[in-house]
Amino acid sequence: MNMEKIGIVKSEFEKPVNPEKMKEYESTLVIDEEYARGLEGLEVGQSLQVIFNFHLIDDYKLFGPKRIGEPRGVFASRSPKRPNGLGVTAVELLAKDGNQLRVKGLDAIDGTPILDIKSYSKLMDQVDTDTDHHQGHHQAQPRTEIEKLIEDNDLEKLLLKAGELHGHFCPFVSLGVKAAAYAMQELDVSSQGMEEIVAVVETNSCFSDGIQYVTGCTFGNNALIYRDYGKTAVTVATRDGTGIRLYLENYNVVDENYPEASQLFDKVIAQRNGSAEEEERLNKKWQQIAFELLEYPIEELFKIEEVEIDVPDYAPIKEDKFCSECGEKIMAGKEVTIEGEDYCVPCMESNYLQLDGRGLELIGHV
Ligand SMILES: [Zn+2]
Ligand SMILES: [Zn+2]
Repeated sequence: MNMEKIGIVKSEFEKPVNPEKMKEYESTLVIDEEYARGLEGLEVGQSLQVIFNFHLIDDYKLFGPKRIGEPRGVFASRSPKRPNGLGVTAVELLAKDGNQLRVKGLDAIDGTPILDIKSYSKLMDQVDTDTDHHQGHHQAQPRTEIEKLIEDNDLEKLLLKAGELHGHFCPFVSLGVKAAAYAMQELDVSSQGMEEIVAVVETNSCFSDGIQYVTGCTFGNNALIYRDYGKTAVTVATRDGTGIRLYLENYNVVDENYPEASQLFDKVIAQRNGSAEEEERLNKKWQQIAFELLEYPIEELFKIEEVEIDVPDYAPIKEDKFCSECGEKIMAGKEVTIEGEDYCVPCMESNYLQLDGRGLELIGHV
């Protein structure tokens, strides 16, 4: 076996100090030109494993005292005195300039030969000592954490996360979170966004973002069904049609309990006439109300009923069509066929439906 260096470390540390301190500093990996191609695809912000050689050390001890802890075997330690003198450290890539990588967290001194660089993978490089192999699941099933929060009825964390999707905290995103979590718990279902369950929303307001986040039924995975009724209501159902519908019966809950916030809302949002200070105040108030609503008994807010619904078939996978005019690809079924030729809607200026702030609208050219 023969190993050659692929580059060298530039660091302000010329002599080793304790690695915990070195970990706080930045250094540069200067990769030899002949290996530069191998750096393609690296992205700033990603984590890397740097494998390097403790080049100033040429002996090792299989057993002995260690810097920290009890005397022990070399393989039970991170000692640099090792049979093959290899160091392995995870770093963060801060910048990339040609064949130079600026990294943070490397505990290797100036001039250290670099033997390899690998992209760090949570799945491969992080061992989960938890019995439920939480992290492993996490990779394959991104909703593991959300499902756990639903199971634990941790509405506060769910709302915090839903806020990431929705962009702000407001009463209606909160009510959506609450309704969705309740329905999921009652139906005892989980969702991987593969249409195992569907959510039928009757409004496209903030409420529906709480629903999308918690149920995992989204606009993009076809498990979200939109009915243009203009009601703050949702039905969560399994594929056999067994569902629970929640309708916000106490639609005055915010006006009645937070009159000041409602006035502020009118001024800032409805009339677009608020000062920056008022806008700020509304935001804070809105957030406070959002979290407080989570505490309300669900029956005081919603009318809840068990329902049977017709669940549409799975989204069809069909062959593609192409527009004879602009050449763009069209999902089959959406083409406009004239004299045997397929066209897209905009090229033909045909009528179509558009979902926007007003709900579904028929947009007509003719
Ligand atoms: Zn909102
Ligand atoms: Zn076209």
